[in-house]
Amino acid sequence: MTTAKAVAGKGYGFFKEKDLKKLNKEQEDKLTELFEQFWSINKKKVGKGAARDAWKKKFKQIDPENWNQFSEKIMREIKAQEQHRKRITDEFPDEYMRKKAGVFLPSRPNPSTWINQERWHDELPQQKEQETKAAHTCVHCKEKGKHHTQAGTLCDWHWVKTYDRPHLKMLYERLEALGLGIQQGEDKKTWSDRCRAYLKTTAMGKAFGA
Ligand SMILES: [Zn+2]
Repeated sequence: MTTAKAVAGKGYGFFKEKDLKKLNKEQEDKLTELFEQFWSINKKKVGKGAARDAWKKKFKQIDPENWNQFSEKIMREIKAQEQHRKRITDEFPDEYMRKKAGVFLPSRPNPSTWINQERWHDELPQQKEQETKAAHTCVHCKEKGKHHTQAGTLCDWHWVKTYDRPHLKMLYERLEALGLGIQQGEDKKTWSDRCRAYLKTTAMGKAFGA
């Protein structure tokens, strides 16, 4: 088992703590710039100061020539981890269903912890082939369902309608603007089906899984 420090420097030129050089102004700025890039894509925005300190400490163990490369690796990994989370929350929006399906989604660690523990080395679980016993058709419209929720399996369209509030709001506003708002005396289901039929013919509709 290698130490955390050795792993940090692996392949990037590794300095022992006692050999750490004081950085010049340009190098300090470079690390701040790289950190800001990391911070902008990191989804848990807490403890920025502590995260920046952890970031700089980690990078000081790396040969400055390799900082870009090292930073790129970290960015790649955190993006992959977020994509993994999104795949899970798309498929199983609520914790109850995740538990039922045996899917574990730990909460995000604080960024400083993520950096200190070098979580970019974490291996993502292989995406399991759909093996759930849940039905694969939407409970509302019988189309292909890939989101397993407490309310049953949902297609993209009905998933957006149930869980994706920001996108739903956007969609409503767009439909209103197109003159496709709900008509007086029209029930919600008829209106929804009417909108969906229209959306199926549009690029926007594809984005919403109509
Ligand atoms: Zn549906």
